[in-house]
Amino acid sequence: MKYSNFFIPTFRENPSDAKIKSHVLMIKSGMIKQEISGIYSWLPLGFKVLKKIIQIIEDMHESNGINQILMPTIQGSDIWKISDRYDTYGKEMLRIVDRNDKELLYGPTNEEMITAIGKHFIKSHKNLPRHFFHIQSKFRDEIRPRFGVMRAREFLMKDAYSFDKDEKSGEQTYERFFRLYLRIFEKLGLKIIPVRAPSGEIGGNLSHEFHLLLETGESKIFVDETYLKKNFSDLKISEIKSINSFTDELYESLNINQSLIHLKSTELGHIFLFGTKYSKSFDFKIDYENDKIFPYMGSYGIGISRIPAAIIEASNDDKGIIWPKEISPFDIVLINLTSNNENTTSFCEDLYAKLKVNNYDVLLDDRSERPGIKFSDADLIGIPIQIIVGKNFVDKKEIGVKTRKDLKESTVSSENIIEFLNQMKI
Ligand code: ATP
Ligand code: MG
Repeated sequence: MKYSNFFIPTFRENPSDAKIKSHVLMIKSGMIKQEISGIYSWLPLGFKVLKKIIQIIEDMHESNGINQILMPTIQGSDIWKISDRYDTYGKEMLRIVDRNDKELLYGPTNEEMITAIGKHFIKSHKNLPRHFFHIQSKFRDEIRPRFGVMRAREFLMKDAYSFDKDEKSGEQTYERFFRLYLRIFEKLGLKIIPVRAPSGEIGGNLSHEFHLLLETGESKIFVDETYLKKNFSDLKISEIKSINSFTDELYESLNINQSLIHLKSTELGHIFLFGTKYSKSFDFKIDYENDKIFPYMGSYGIGISRIPAAIIEASNDDKGIIWPKEISPFDIVLINLTSNNENTTSFCEDLYAKLKVNNYDVLLDDRSERPGIKFSDADLIGIPIQIIVGKNFVDKKEIGVKTRKDLKESTVSSENIIEFLNQMKI
């Protein structure tokens, strides 16, 4: 992608309404624009990051046999009356009336709708287990939308739902999702702490949240210190159930007599095994050995649009964002410092084409801006590798390769650049 053809409206000044670093940097780097309180547009750079996250999450769900569907944002009130959540959900639910006076709502979550879908199609235990996911905007009229996309009103969530024949099979599914979540967060470059959580209004009795430790986080978790160093990836359901680290709400309600440290964090994922709560209220029964049973269900959410903010909050410096390579909008920014010079320009065009052939996603800064602006934009938008082509190329055929994380620059002969990058394993 050429910078001249890619819209990145960066700002030098800090936005006055942004209180935390990630919000400041997402605005300054031209990733998002607030439309009204808690409702954002994603601009090209931000949307590119979001799409990378979506791709990883989609691939990992699909390869685990979880089928992608797309449910609508707008739901009818009838299904929410069946589950009895229409009134209890309260003011966070955005209620809408259509031209025929039918009560609609903008979905804050989809347990009801997926149960209605299940009831419509699934008639026998032979069709189970079944796992579905979708990635769709949710609306929650949060009392205090803040911190940009961290706590928005309209936000993008991945939510998955499972149908099993009984508790045992449901727990196996739950274990699979728990492990899948850990692998997803690892792939996103995030060190996540899973903790036990209360089930809240969704219901049921098995629930875990996936937290990223952040000083500015709005959540609090209570953890055993040794737990922080643990490798969670191979936990079995029995171990998952007895995790001795908790959300603050669960910790307080359980009256735990163990000294745990409490840490500030942000919730990025939440899973529930709520059993037959919704299948019962929907009278959703299936055939099972001459009998009728209520399928055992679970739901599994990831706050997709919160993730870029959380990553930036955890990975930045006073110059800007530092993207982990996994979800960086580009692999490399190729900076032509002297875009009015024919030599550097043709070299950059040529290198840009070669890097593309080598599967690097490159942003070529071909703008006729001053070097200072190009450098500060590159640092602000945080692409992991900067290739700098300027006077040294004209004089000595040398170019600079700078890593954004530590701002260390190496000088590389222009002929060896591809080899050099391949060795860096970016
Ligand atoms: P929180 O405790 O942060 O309010 P929640 O428990 O209400 O979240 P869930 O119903 O568990 O949220 O939703 C699944 C995921 O969606 C959460 O783990 C979180 O990452 C994300 N999420 C929830 N609310 C918001 C929001 N207002 N803005 C952005 N992401 C959100
Ligand atoms: Mg939650």
